[in-house]
Amino acid sequence: MPLSRARAALKSVFGYDDFRPGQDEVIAAVMSGEPVLAVMPTGSGKSMCYQLPAIVDGGLTVVVSPLIALMRDQVQQMQHVGVAAATLNSTNGDDANRETLRRLRAGEITCSFVSPERLAGDGLVSLLAACDVRRLAIDEAHCVSQWGHDFRPEYRQLASVREALGGVQVVALTATADQATRNDIAAQLFPAPPRVVVHSFDRPNIHLRFEAKDRPRTQIADFLARHKGGSGIIYASSRDKTEKLSEWLVGKGIRSVPYHAGLDAETRSRHQDIFLQEDGVVVVATVAFGMGINKPDVRFVVHADMPAGVEAYYQEIGRAGRDGLPADTLTLYGLDDMAFRRRQIDDKAISEAQRRVEKKRLAAMTDLAESATCRRQALLAYFGEQMGRCGACDLCQGGAELVDATVDAQKVLSAVVRTGQRYGAAHLVDVLRGEATEAVQRQGHDRIKTFGVGADRSAHVWRTLVRQLFAAGALAEASAEHGGFRITSEGEAVLFGHEKIALRSIREAVPRRAGKRTDKDDRADGLDEATATMFERLRALRREIARDEGVPAYMVFPDRTLIEMAEAMPGTLDEMRAVQGVGERKLTLYGEAFLEALHA
Ligand code: ADP
Repeated sequence: MPLSRARAALKSVFGYDDFRPGQDEVIAAVMSGEPVLAVMPTGSGKSMCYQLPAIVDGGLTVVVSPLIALMRDQVQQMQHVGVAAATLNSTNGDDANRETLRRLRAGEITCSFVSPERLAGDGLVSLLAACDVRRLAIDEAHCVSQWGHDFRPEYRQLASVREALGGVQVVALTATADQATRNDIAAQLFPAPPRVVVHSFDRPNIHLRFEAKDRPRTQIADFLARHKGGSGIIYASSRDKTEKLSEWLVGKGIRSVPYHAGLDAETRSRHQDIFLQEDGVVVVATVAFGMGINKPDVRFVVHADMPAGVEAYYQEIGRAGRDGLPADTLTLYGLDDMAFRRRQIDDKAISEAQRRVEKKRLAAMTDLAESATCRRQALLAYFGEQMGRCGACDLCQGGAELVDATVDAQKVLSAVVRTGQRYGAAHLVDVLRGEATEAVQRQGHDRIKTFGVGADRSAHVWRTLVRQLFAAGALAEASAEHGGFRITSEGEAVLFGHEKIALRSIREAVPRRAGKRTDKDDRADGLDEATATMFERLRALRREIARDEGVPAYMVFPDRTLIEMAEAMPGTLDEMRAVQGVGERKLTLYGEAFLEALHA
């Protein structure tokens, strides 16, 4: 059975006992020689789906990958477990490429990674045609589609590359869920409809949480306190903000670097390397950061500002927890974000039809943020998947519920109308709560009927209501320059009692941190003290080895392996072999050192 051979190699080469969900199906299809399109989420282990067949079947697998950094990382990882892998690209230098070509012809290479430009360009294809090419694996296959978000014209030539290689088997892989893109990949890369394997987009190990921006820095600090020592990404909406946030983190004793397109190339790549190679670095970045980040042990992703859409959100949080261990996310959102994103769309030079599409996308994002039911259910529904309540997201755990908010909504809408449809949330809240501020008096708003009708509720509750009404489309921005709100036709329907409105119940702001938490509660990984201490010791050893060898820490051993070692405390090399992630080569390389650390 080919699959049992693949399973044996999974253990002996990579040290893993079992396939991840979906991998077995794809690998079986690949090894049967069928053309395959695999659609699986980030972190599901797509690379294994061509690496294992390549190791087991023999022959050469040519892997097309869009980014040099991504290729380098993969080749390093394969070489590290003892598999013959190489890149062929323009940054290698002629000598290195010549040597690689010699080894290719001699049949010494299992996986050769190449960029689509290189493959479409010079005479490489005819050189490869003379080698024993078994299959063409096309990573990030959505790049072939104009519907996808990373269109790369060179991908269009891969069909003719396949022909030139004698019509070899094609295995295309992507994490893009969208049906139009999927159809496009099938049509562009395959001569006949391929076998399509779609795996669920659920990432159960990623915890989802949204919070309305209240005191953003405190919210971020509280979150980070539960992730001490973990690597993470904080996304912020502007370059300036990434730098300020990063500086602030450094001031709090957290190792952090900023990343955005405005930094010079050298600084950018240095910061990226620090994040990749070291343990426990927090990178504060704009969305320019991410594509090609293959780091498996990113423990958390924070959005300091609301993402632009659900796809972007899903992709960005998806960079956490590729190793399958628990990972945490926090998304902050506020009125200003929603208004900012709407303005961005209004200002774009695009057709009205496109604008409508973008507005719908944004509305889906605000709906997700303001959702009252299971967050995961809402997220997956966006990708066309149905599931029951997950029981593990912030909403399932925190128990938000929809309540009839028609009367309160009418108070807000009435305040908007009676103040002339041009004021922002702060002023509206003052009017509702009956605060006779200087501005309120100057405008005579202390004499309108709505003044003070909401004195029984806190400013926090009214602010939240304004935001929810804006997200629900009952309020719109009054003017692009000055902000402020006007009422929409949906809002009027509520104000005049034609329609009811249900909103998420709002809790009065609870003081944070009532009572002291214990250290254990503070550890997001939930390890007990002894394991945590041992984990720290193993991490220190890993750091040392990684530094000596000049490879990222996770390439020595991933977190999961260190945690399992700390729990199982193997006493011999043989016992260590049973730990997930310890393959034969790494056992030889590092086994003794880790045994020593475990029993020091
Ligand atoms: P993707 O390309 O789908 O985003 P990767 O191929 O980068 O995911 O794999 C993510 C991580 O999961 C890698 O660190 C990889 O070594 C690990 N991995 C892959 N398959 C398995 C498995 N069967 N068991 C445990 N870990 C695995």
